Formats: sequence, C-alpha cells, structure tokens
Amino acid sequence: MSGKTNTLIIGGGIIGLLTARELAIAGQSVTILEKNTHAGLESSWAGGGILSPLYPWRYPDAVTDLAVIGHKDYPRLAADLLKSTGIDPEYVRSGHLILDLDEYDQAKSWAKTFSKKITLERKSKFLQRIGRRELSLIEPELSENHTAALWMPVIGQIRNPRLIKALVKDLKQRGVKIIPDAEVKAIHSENGKVLYIESSNTRWSADSYLVAAGAWSASLLADTGLSLAVEPVRGQMILFKADPDKLRRIILNNSKYLIPRRDGHILAGSTLEYVGFNKQLTDSGYQELWSAAVDIAPFLENTPVVSHWAGLRPGSSSGVPTIDRHPDLENLVICSGHFRNGVILGLGSARIAAELLTGSDSLKSNYQTRNPYRVQ
Ligand SMILES: Cc1cc2nc3c(=O)[nH]c(=O)nc-3n(C[C@H](O)[C@H](O)[C@H](O)COP(=O)(O)OP(=O)(O)OC[C@H]3O[C@@H](n4cnc5c(N)ncnc54)[C@H](O)[C@@H]3O)c2cc1C
Repeated sequence: MSGKTNTLIIGGGIIGLLTARELAIAGQSVTILEKNTHAGLESSWAGGGILSPLYPWRYPDAVTDLAVIGHKDYPRLAADLLKSTGIDPEYVRSGHLILDLDEYDQAKSWAKTFSKKITLERKSKFLQRIGRRELSLIEPELSENHTAALWMPVIGQIRNPRLIKALVKDLKQRGVKIIPDAEVKAIHSENGKVLYIESSNTRWSADSYLVAAGAWSASLLADTGLSLAVEPVRGQMILFKADPDKLRRIILNNSKYLIPRRDGHILAGSTLEYVGFNKQLTDSGYQELWSAAVDIAPFLENTPVVSHWAGLRPGSSSGVPTIDRHPDLENLVICSGHFRNGVILGLGSARIAAELLTGSDSLKSNYQTRNPYRVQ
C-alpha cells in the first residue's frame, strides 16, 4: 500500500473506530483493517450501551477515571455525530435504578468521589436511595417485590448499532479508510519496530500500528512474544418488543439488567460465560435472561422476544484495559481488554491510545511515568 498512512489500526470495533476519530481530528491519516465484512459487528455491536460500569464502585480507580470521561463526553459525541452524519446514536439520559441494596455504603462513598469529577446540575444528586412510593411512581411496571432502589438519574445509554453506523460514516467523511475482509494474520518486526503487517495476501505498512482487536488481541500479539491477559467472555442478550415507555430507566438486579429504548424495544442482558471463541446461543442462556427480566418487570412475561444474540467481550481480570506501547516494539500500541465496559470506557481509552500513537507531549507528563493501563 502507499506510504501515506500514519497509523494502521487492527480491528474496527468501538475502540478502533473511536481511536481513528481522535487521530483523524488530530490531522493523521488512518486506515482500519477489519476481518469481517463490516466494522463493529463483534462485541461492540452486541453490547447494551449502558454508559456506566455495572456496580461501578466494584472497580479500581483506573476504570472510574475512564468512565468519568465517557460520562462527560458522550452527549457531545452523539450530538456531533448526528450533525455530521444524520444518524442518531440515541444518547438518552435515562437514569439507572439498581435494585440490590446490600452495597449501599460502598456505592455512597464511590458516588461522592465520582460526582466531584463531573458537572452536576445545581441541587441534583448523583445517587440516592429511594423507597417503594417513589419507585412505583417512576417505574410503575416494576414487580411489587422490589421495594427500594439506588437511583442514579444522570446515567445515560446509547444504541450501539447506531453509534457504530454513525462513527463509520463520520470516519469516511474524515478520510479514514476502513478495509473490510482484511484479517491480519501476522505482525513482522525488525530491530524493535514493526515493519509491516500481513492480511491474506496483502502487506500493509505505516508509521505506527494499533492493536484494537478486542477478544482476538491476545492471539494476534502472541506472535510478537507478548502474552496479553485478554480472553473471550461470551455475553448473550435477548430483546423484547413492548410499547414505548412501559419502562424508562436502565434497571439492574442481581447482575442482570433491562435497557428500554425509545421505540419500546427492551434489551435484557447479559450472561457471563467463559467458553472460548464460541458465540453459540443456548436455551439455558435464554431462560436465565428471560426469568431475570420477568422478575424485574412481570409484564415481560407476555411480551414477545424478537431477538437473541451473543458477543465475545475482551475479558480482562479486573476490567482494567491495557492501553500501552508494546514493551519490545516502539511503534506498536495496544488498546484492548475493556471487558464489560468498552463503550463507556472507549472515549477516554481512545484519547490515551491516540496520544501514545502520536507521542503527544500532554501524555508524556501524564501517562508515561504512571500509566495505570500498562502491559502487565
Ligand atoms: C452482551 C454484551 C453487553 C455489553 N454491554 C455493555 C454496556 O452496556 N456498556 C459498555 O460500556 N460495554 C458493554 N459491553 C462491552 C463492550 O461491548 C466491549 O467492551 C467493547 O465492544 C469492546 O470493543 P473492542 O473494539 O475492543 O472489541 P470488538 O467490538 O470485539 O472489536 C474488535 C474488532 O477487531 C476485529 N478483529 C479481530 N481480530 C482481527 C484481525 N486479526 N484482523 C482484523 N480485524 C480483527 C473484530 O472483527 C472486531 O470487529 C457489552 C458486551 C457484550 C458482549
């Protein structure tokens, strides 16, 4: 290929796409190589688009710091994409109800720190505990068994397939090349630098390279002598079609959640299964999701299920992604391992990855000495 590309990105999921956007805005020329027929068909398509980690207080600060960036900047990204592409990614500040109350104290102290880092409207609270009366006022269709909840009114959601469609169109308008059916098979290096990468019968070269191959990142990097602790973790989802506004908030109970969309679709997720690179759907997964959904909102028992799918999350042990230079190859950056939170964490991750790729000074002071996303 011509020597014009500054950066070659391996993987057109949310991480690759968002990083490409950061780089294109910074004036870089970018090419994305994607193994599938279209970008964004793997975990990033399958995900729910909740713009918060589930039970966010359970995560280390490194995750919270990225969540802060996503929380602040998704509304602007969605508005910009709508303007530039005409495609609405449906950012909605729907709020988030958590029906498990046993971690209230941890939640309270986490929320105190988090809310200091974001802009809250005057007098609004980031997290509060509400009782039966208020709960049934804001979500009348909830099961009566649920008598109290943690309520986070400012948490938002986004519709993944639309976000991806909008990002792809926006990137093309910015001159980013997205090459489909281009599975990278090998990374060739010499003297501590990547020389070229190889997909089927084509060699690709650039100034720098990004591995953003989601659950496949570890196998790709094994070639380079690096053992990256990222593994596939299957997540199944089912989709109900109800009347609009039957539910309005993201609702979490016992690690299972409902995400109501504006048009009445309600996503019920998700399973957590360590079964390798296997996206097969299972009856037991379906039953697990269906029962949990009906337990939250009994009307779903008589609501049609219109879809059932699975995706492979890039699982990492503590949910902290790796965003770092390859220890032996100076022009190769890795951004992977976002596990259950790649959408909300993606914006901040993309910014760090883009800075590592361009070697920008702001990052040197911030991350090169104390990067919490270092290769382990
Ligand atoms: C059921 C489910 C629910 C989820 N819900 C949420 C949520 O509510 N909120 C949230 O923030 N996150 C959620 N997630 C997690 C989130 O979807 C992921 O963390 C995120 O999509 C990871 O993005 P990625 O770009 O790293 O990976 P992917 O989206 O998997 O993208 C990697 C891309 O690389 C390509 N690729 C791989 N190998 C190669 C190769 N050799 N050559 C070329 N291309 C290659 C793949 O085809 C793929 O397109 C959910 C995930 C699942 C499965």
